[in-house]
This record gives sequence, structure tokens and C-alpha cells, in this order.
Amino acid sequence: MIDFDDPKYLELKNRFDPDFKELKKSVKKYIKLTKKNEELLEDAYKLALYAHKDQLRKSNEPYFVHLLEVARILISIHMDLDTIIAALLHDSLEDTFLTYEELEKYFGKHVADLVDGVTKLDKISDKFDSSGAQAGNFRKMLISMTKDIRVLLIKLADRLHNMRTLGHLSAKKREKIARETLEVYAPLAHRFGMGRIKAELEDLAFKYLDHKAFSKLAKMVNEKKEEREQYIQKFIQPIQKELEKHGKKFEIYGRPKHLYSIHQKMLKRKKSFEEIYDLFAIRILVETVEDCYYCLGIIHQLFIPIYDRFKDYISVPKANGYQSLHTTVLGPEGKMVEVQIRTFEMHEVAEQGIAAHWIYKETLNKKASSVKIDNYEESLQSFRKFLESYQGNNPKEFLEELKIQLTDKDTFVFTPKGDVIQLPKGATPIDFAFAVHTNVGLHCIGAKVNNKIVSLKTPLKSGDVVEIITSQTQHPHEDWLKYVKTSKARNRIKRYLKEEKFEEDSTTGEKNFYNDIEKLNIPKNKIDMNVILKKFNYKTEKHFFAAYFRGDITLAKILTFLGITPGKKEKTGLLDRLIGWKKLHESILVDGEDKIDVKIAGCCQPIPGDDIVGYVTKNHGITIHRRDCKNLVQLIEQEDRVIPVDWNLQSRIFYKVTLFIEAEDRKNLLRDITVKVSDLGANIIHIQMKSNTHYASGIMVLEVNSLEQLNKIISSLQKMKGILHVDRKQSNEQKHIIENKEGGMEQ
Ligand code: MN
Repeated sequence: MIDFDDPKYLELKNRFDPDFKELKKSVKKYIKLTKKNEELLEDAYKLALYAHKDQLRKSNEPYFVHLLEVARILISIHMDLDTIIAALLHDSLEDTFLTYEELEKYFGKHVADLVDGVTKLDKISDKFDSSGAQAGNFRKMLISMTKDIRVLLIKLADRLHNMRTLGHLSAKKREKIARETLEVYAPLAHRFGMGRIKAELEDLAFKYLDHKAFSKLAKMVNEKKEEREQYIQKFIQPIQKELEKHGKKFEIYGRPKHLYSIHQKMLKRKKSFEEIYDLFAIRILVETVEDCYYCLGIIHQLFIPIYDRFKDYISVPKANGYQSLHTTVLGPEGKMVEVQIRTFEMHEVAEQGIAAHWIYKETLNKKASSVKIDNYEESLQSFRKFLESYQGNNPKEFLEELKIQLTDKDTFVFTPKGDVIQLPKGATPIDFAFAVHTNVGLHCIGAKVNNKIVSLKTPLKSGDVVEIITSQTQHPHEDWLKYVKTSKARNRIKRYLKEEKFEEDSTTGEKNFYNDIEKLNIPKNKIDMNVILKKFNYKTEKHFFAAYFRGDITLAKILTFLGITPGKKEKTGLLDRLIGWKKLHESILVDGEDKIDVKIAGCCQPIPGDDIVGYVTKNHGITIHRRDCKNLVQLIEQEDRVIPVDWNLQSRIFYKVTLFIEAEDRKNLLRDITVKVSDLGANIIHIQMKSNTHYASGIMVLEVNSLEQLNKIISSLQKMKGILHVDRKQSNEQKHIIENKEGGMEQ
């Protein structure tokens, strides 16, 4: 079927033979080819040429140009022969008559699998759009890719060449491919430490996505080029001298920054081009780790280091395996210079990432090396774990998670015992808690960071010492999902919300149910569970009790159905009278109950954290007062109907509270107060200030969710310019000037 005498084929072969010879030569530079292997490479070349002979690229060049370039990129990062052969054939399954079986027959299973992997990835990628419709398949592909990382490498090389030649496509296609490159492929390259490919992919995508900004920046960088080079020479000289004096082998040069990263920095730091100070950047390559630190010493002696800018990624490599020392110093003319120092080996890894690792692993096999290659294995494994353990089926969410997984994972925090925990950027104490142990996560109630109590939502920074405070009564809340960055925490919280909450609801529901019928003096044996389950359509008793707990089904309904009238036994306790009241105020626990009609007293406006008691009213359930409420004291004098109550801290309800404010009147006082209060997360319901010449006073009614929050608000208002006094309404007090309308008696 294959006819190697085909004139079209012969013509192409004529044209590409010199290129192929050159390609073979560059492979031989780092791989010793046996005769058989050389033939295999040659066969791949011929077959690829033949199979694609009738196809043209959009640039009107023979398709083979693309295959050749993809192979060249992979040769430049010293990939193995299987990968090079697969690169030459990477589009053959999709676009030609060749089949998997044929590839396997000619080149072996490894090559066939590689080509197959790339092909499948292509098909997914074709359908990929930002709505994430194909995310499920995409995930599967990524999993298979991480099983043989070479598939990813071929795909990245393929994408790189396509991006280099993107100009030939239609504007719409360009945009789609460029965006996908920026969102998926560049981060993938970064995740696996392939700095050079990542930079080129980003710059190319940037060029097509924001051509104006790209060319403007390119022009500015170019204009500054000479000036920059002169400056760098001046900076380098004394370092060079010093290193030569000590007989060190080294390489030192000005490091060009890629345009996209400059662009990003300008956006992120909201600075102009001129202000991005680390345009001056140099890199020093030396032989050993000791030389790196030695070199750092020299530089810090010659120039003043900038506090806070030194980073040691040699002893603690980045998650993608990157190792280097970073420092920023004050160079001549008071300009900042960013310096990177690393070994030659580390440099190779920094540029080629997992490709270099792959080569080290295959060839050098743990020879004494300055590079911590285990990092890649870990990195790859954790990525694979993420993909495999991902449980959601919302494609959009998956892509979001993927992006998080693909960005830097470089927050390193410590347990109080000094163990390092690695978390993604922006991770919170909740993530930390789950990373330590699932049980810690499920019961965390607060955190101490560097010995200070912080909210569970606080993003952690590298170096933080984190201690988790747990409570067996605390459980995950739905809104935790907004603050977690790790999929472990996310999955566990979701699972809890789904399953464990069910378990818990059903256990409590069971207890409540039997307590309730006992209180009504109904013998247990009158309750036929099977009948109830059947009638009300519950799968199991557990489902029924959970529903009972949630109030989906009431005792009244059940009793009516069963034809039971509650026993006539005289009820004595106050609580008994309350059973059956339907209104639920989930924020208050009345003697362990939380399904009783309660009302927050308006006279003293208690909020969670306040010491409270319940006052049982004649007809309207329980009113909750602060223990020190003056009204309450009066009420008790009449008749003691106080029962113990407590806050149900699980609930998320806002409470009304009134503050009195006195201040020296000034411009913008009101505005400043309202801004401050809403910054602290409280809602202002009502604010009213009166002023006479220099003095202003008034009330502000807020909604807060805890005493802690309220105290924070009061103390920050008190610190504000002009504020004389802020305090919380006591019971039924009449403060000066404004009459308080909120404070009517509740009894
Ligand atoms: Mn291709």
C-alpha cells in the first residue's frame, strides 16, 4: 500500500533530506544510536513524510515542516529516541491512513502509545472551550499524560510550534488557541518547571491576545536595551573579578525578562514601565552548591542587599523543582538589581524542567547531583493525585481547580512542632488543618498564626507557624468552601456536608424524636416505625430521623396520622409547654433545644458572645436578654421565669445592635464612620447624627454576627479622628439628644 516510488514523496524527500541529516546529527550528539535505532529513526522520517505528503500547513508549506520542528524542539531538550520518533509521527493517527496497530508493529508499543496519547489530547483540545464542556475528558487526558510525561512534552512542543506559526490562521482561531495556550499550556509548562518553553508560549500568546500592549512593550524594552547592557556590564565587573581571583568556574550574564512577565508585573503592581525596577536582572551560574552561597556572600559584600528580597530556593525548592538563590541588591547609581545564583545543573533544570528530570532519571540515575530530582516525582505525583481524586462533576469548577493546581505551590508553613506543610498560594488555616489531619480539619474552630488568633479565612504566608484550635462540637460550614484552596480540604468538606451531616442530623433527630414523644407521655411501643416510614416515604429510619431533625416532618403530623392524642399528664416544666411551637430560631440553644420560639430582646440587644438568659413569656415563647439587662431585673422581681439559654455558635445570623456615638464634628465624619463599619463586615441599618457647632452625637443601628465583631467595630471607631466616645446601648437607657426608638420593652 505504501509506495515509496511515488513522485510526490520523492520530491519531498529530496527537499527534506538535508534537514533530516542535520536532525539525525543533533540526536547523535546526545544519544548513541545503534544501527537498528538509526534505521528506526529513518523509517519514522520516511513514513511521516509519506503519510503527510498531500497535506499543507496553513502557511502553504508541506506539513512535514511542522513535524520536523516539533522533533527539533524535543531534541533541543534532549529527549529520548521514542519521543523523537513519536514527534515525527504525532499527527499521523489523526490525519493519515496510519493506524495504532501499524505504529506498534513498526516502532513498538511505547511509540504507538505516545502518538495515541497526543492524538487523544488533540481531540479534546479541539473541543475545549472556556465553558469547560469537555473538562471531564480533559481531566482523563491529563491523567494519562501524567502516566507518561513524554506525551505532555510532545504536546507542549507541538503547541509551541503552532504558536510560532499562529500568524497564518484566522483571527478567531488565533484568539482561541492563544487563550488556551495562556490558560492551560503555559501553566502546564510552568507546573513542570519548563521555564523556557513557558516564557515563549506566554510571549507568543500575549502577542496575539493584546497586540497593542505587546508591541508597545517590545519597543520600550528595545529602546532601553543598550543602556541596560552598559549598566549590567558595570554591575558585573567587580563580581567577575572577585570570582576569578578565587579560581571559580562561572558564567555571568544579564538576564532578559520575557515581555509577558514585565506586562504582568506592571498590571499587578500598578506601575509604569519605568517603575518596574527589576528590569535589571543578572544570573550567575557556578559549579557547586557551596559556590552558590560563596557567590552570594561576595555580592552582599559588594552591594547592599534589599531586606526581604532574599529567597533560598536551593534548600527549599519550589514545588515545580526550581532551585536557585534570589537576592536583590542596590547597584551603582542606586538602581535595584535582581540576582539569581544557581549551579549549571540547576539552570538546565530551570529551563527544561521535567524534561531534564526525565533525562537525569533515565541516564544519570541518582548520580551525585546538586539537583533535587525527587521534587519532580513528588510534584508529578501530587498533580496526578489531584486529578485522580477530583470528585466534582462541574467542569467549570474543575478548570478553576486545575488553574490553582498549576500555579505556584510555594507557601511553606510550619506546625508548632516545626514540621513543614506545603500549601498552595492563598491557602487558609482550614487547608492547613485538613493537611495535618482530616479530623483536625473537621473540627477546627480557630487558628493561631505566629501566636495570634486569626480567623480561619486568613490566607497564610510562607514561614507562618500555624496552630489549629479544635472543638468536637465544631463542624465544617458550607462557606468554608469559599476559603479553601486545596482539593483535599474541599473534598472533605463537601463530603462532610453531604454524608456526615446526614449521620449527625439523623442521630440528633432520633434523640429529639424520642425525647419529644416521652415529653408528651406517649409510650414508645405505640410508635410503629415501619408504618411511619411507609406512609411518609422514607427509605430508612435514618432518613426519617434526619428529616425530623431538619423539621421536614413534624411530630404533630405523625401523631395525627397514627391517631394518637398526647397523654393528659400535667406538664410541669416550663420547657414542656414550649414543645410543639414551630417557629425556629436556630441561633439559640434552650437547654439543648433549638426549636423553640425565641425572640431577641430589643431593650438590651444581645449578640453572640454576650452572657444571656431566657425569659419565658406568657404567650410568646422565650425572650433572650443580656444577663445584666435592667429590664430583666425588673421582670424577675415580678415573677422568676428565667431559664438558662446559650448561643448556638453554629448559626450564621445577624443581630441588630445600637451604638451611641459622640464626636467632634468634622467634615466627612459620617462617611468615614460608615466606610469603617462596612469594611469590618457589618451592615448599617440606620444612622442618625445630630450636631451643634463642634459636637456631634447620634445613634447607629448595625447588624453584626458576634460580640467579637462588635468589639472590633467599637474599638476601631474609637481610634478614629474626632470620635470621643462610642458605646453600646444599655437596657432602655435614654441617651442624650436622640430618643431611642428601638428600645421598647419586649415583655
Ligand atoms: Mn501537531
